[in-house]
Amino acid sequence: MFCLVTLLFHLSVVVAAQQSLAYLVQYSNENAARIHVQIVTASPITSPVTMVIPRAIPSGYAQEFYDRYVDRVKATTSSETPVKKQDGPRWRVEQRGLTKIEYDVDVARLEQEIFDASAASKVRPEYVGLLGYSVLGYLEGFENLPVRLEVDGPRGWPVFSTLAPKVPSDTSRTVAEARNFYELADSQIAMGPKLEVRRLSTDVSLFLAVYSEVPTDVKKHGEIFADAFMKVLAYFAIGPFDHYTAFIEILKPLSERHSYGFSMEHLTSSTYFLGATRAIDANTSPQQLELDRFNFAHHVTHSWIPKHVYGTGYMPFTWELAPEIDTIWFNEGFARYVTIEALADAMPETEGKKFRQQRLDSYRSLIDSMPGFISSMSLLKLSRVGSLMYSDDFRIGQTLFSKGALMAAAMDAAIRKQTRGRKRLRDSLRALVSWGEHSGRAFRIAELPGLIARPVGVSEQSIRTIVNEWLRGN
Ligand SMILES: [Zn+2]
Repeated sequence: MFCLVTLLFHLSVVVAAQQSLAYLVQYSNENAARIHVQIVTASPITSPVTMVIPRAIPSGYAQEFYDRYVDRVKATTSSETPVKKQDGPRWRVEQRGLTKIEYDVDVARLEQEIFDASAASKVRPEYVGLLGYSVLGYLEGFENLPVRLEVDGPRGWPVFSTLAPKVPSDTSRTVAEARNFYELADSQIAMGPKLEVRRLSTDVSLFLAVYSEVPTDVKKHGEIFADAFMKVLAYFAIGPFDHYTAFIEILKPLSERHSYGFSMEHLTSSTYFLGATRAIDANTSPQQLELDRFNFAHHVTHSWIPKHVYGTGYMPFTWELAPEIDTIWFNEGFARYVTIEALADAMPETEGKKFRQQRLDSYRSLIDSMPGFISSMSLLKLSRVGSLMYSDDFRIGQTLFSKGALMAAAMDAAIRKQTRGRKRLRDSLRALVSWGEHSGRAFRIAELPGLIARPVGVSEQSIRTIVNEWLRGN
């Protein structure tokens, strides 16, 4: 029987399907320091609207004031309409019927004033590299709408987006789609004749995007990255993505205060913004190449932990203020332990054992080298402090990941012992990733022992004892 409720339901589905946002990012040689961003609505918004520019990066564990570099904000309803700057990174349009809001970002000044290269976008002669969250704002209340991204560069420039990676042609344009603002903000854009993009020959859709200001062996970067990626994929067995990009910039320092070397994970990519010493040539030591492999593998691991399974505070993400997170020791420590295991699994047994032992010993030494007030802090407190200070005072970051990795190692030992080697932490973490995907929520610390113990059939209490011991501090 035809039913009004059914009709209304169908109408609301149609309306929801029509609601989307288009983001247009434009760069031209005439205005070389800046980009122009337009956010266009599919239909006029019938209420006042607030645009927010992010001040926080997922897993950034710091505050970055990207709104300082945004200016010339304009709004359009039926005609140009006033925009009021509010406190914080907010711009308010009172007039109803918004169809477009647009602004410039002074990317050159952004990079000059943000000293952490891994948190900054860049413009260079014949190259632009943009981190989504550093230049793209959202309309408050509309963060979950699907987004269509269009990027336009100067004539003849290849343009690349990690949302829809492909080896770019020189058509100076690319389009991509994101399910929501988070996916958009967590993606990267790169363009220019000096950008090099390769598809790496593996079973998965794997890409390498490189911009280097010094000569470097791009093929070698690709080989090491693909090797690291496949080893981590083997550890988890399934990947929560159908493509993945390693995005590398090798840069001459902008000033003595600028720091290079920190990398960052994203949903379907990882970014490595490195100093010139990290270029690869014939003189690069085998030790350096192994450090690169570890760094790649570690950041690929993050695409599972914490991007798809995380503790309280990580999601939903608060873009205006870096969230207080209880479980950075899990995000960083467990991800480190997984990296060690994924790389060791591919080594001959004795070599793998030695590698594993050396890594874990180095974490014990790191903890021992910390001032007592840091090494004895409870992990919960340290994690909350680290939510804003993880790399600014890297003693906090190092203590968090060292203790987390050793906690994971202790769990692994307990699981292997209780199951007489039939199961290992890897089995628990595979199940935990699946739990994260299905539940769509953060785990509470009190839930973690059960989530680790149940899939491998070991005593929950034994895992809880390990968690509590490490959480306490000493
Ligand atoms: Zn990390």
